[in-house]
Amino acid sequence: MALVGTVISLLVQVMAPAPTSATAGPVAPPSTRPTPLPSPTPPQVSTPPSAPAHVDCTKVKCVALTFDDGPVKHTSDVLDALSARGARATFFVLGVMARKHPELLRRMIAEGDAVGNHSWNHPMLFGLSAKATRAQFVRTEKVITAAIGEEPMLVRTPFGQQNKKIRRILGKLGSPVILWNVDPQDWKVRKTAVVIRRVVKATKRNSIVLLHDVWPSTRAAVPAIIDKLQAKGFVLVTVPELIGTPQPGKVYLHG
Ligand SMILES: [Zn+2]
Repeated sequence: MALVGTVISLLVQVMAPAPTSATAGPVAPPSTRPTPLPSPTPPQVSTPPSAPAHVDCTKVKCVALTFDDGPVKHTSDVLDALSARGARATFFVLGVMARKHPELLRRMIAEGDAVGNHSWNHPMLFGLSAKATRAQFVRTEKVITAAIGEEPMLVRTPFGQQNKKIRRILGKLGSPVILWNVDPQDWKVRKTAVVIRRVVKATKRNSIVLLHDVWPSTRAAVPAIIDKLQAKGFVLVTVPELIGTPQPGKVYLHG
């Protein structure tokens, strides 16, 4: 009997007209005049949760997601996740990969993302001559410039290796060295849930987050990373938006 009573009570609740709530707004007083027809509302355009054209990171809580070693074909999944959420990121591409996917570089730029130079084929720079080091970045710069029509200014060195010699070479090329202060070790753990948890836990205001779009486990983590960071009030911006005008030859770990 108690169950029947509960069911009836539930039915009554379901069937009862919705109560007028405080959120419904003030009730208009009855009017004797005919009310004009409301003008048709334009079709609802889905606005991204946070896609301001200009972000001032001194005023809002910014974070820069960065993706290294691509692009690969499925980098488009990362771009989809970013654009659907009004988020931007920075892609540090390899010359060998950029050469295969110039259309992805063009899409990055068209969607407000930034493209940086991550060397031609990811060598250990500490083992290279000055000439060979320079060639790694110059050759990549040419491929990127041919794809997007502008020279990439930002450099991230492979493995984050840098010393005085490397900084001097890159400084002469006009490039700052962009490293990171959040590293979930996504290339090593390859577990989506772990990558999400580590990034969300470690990210602070003006962090630069190191990720790799070449791993499926990382790509799968991107939607939740964006959602969770935005829920915490972060605005996802590019590295140039985060650090303004960086100095050539200088190393940056965060904004
Ligand atoms: Zn790398």
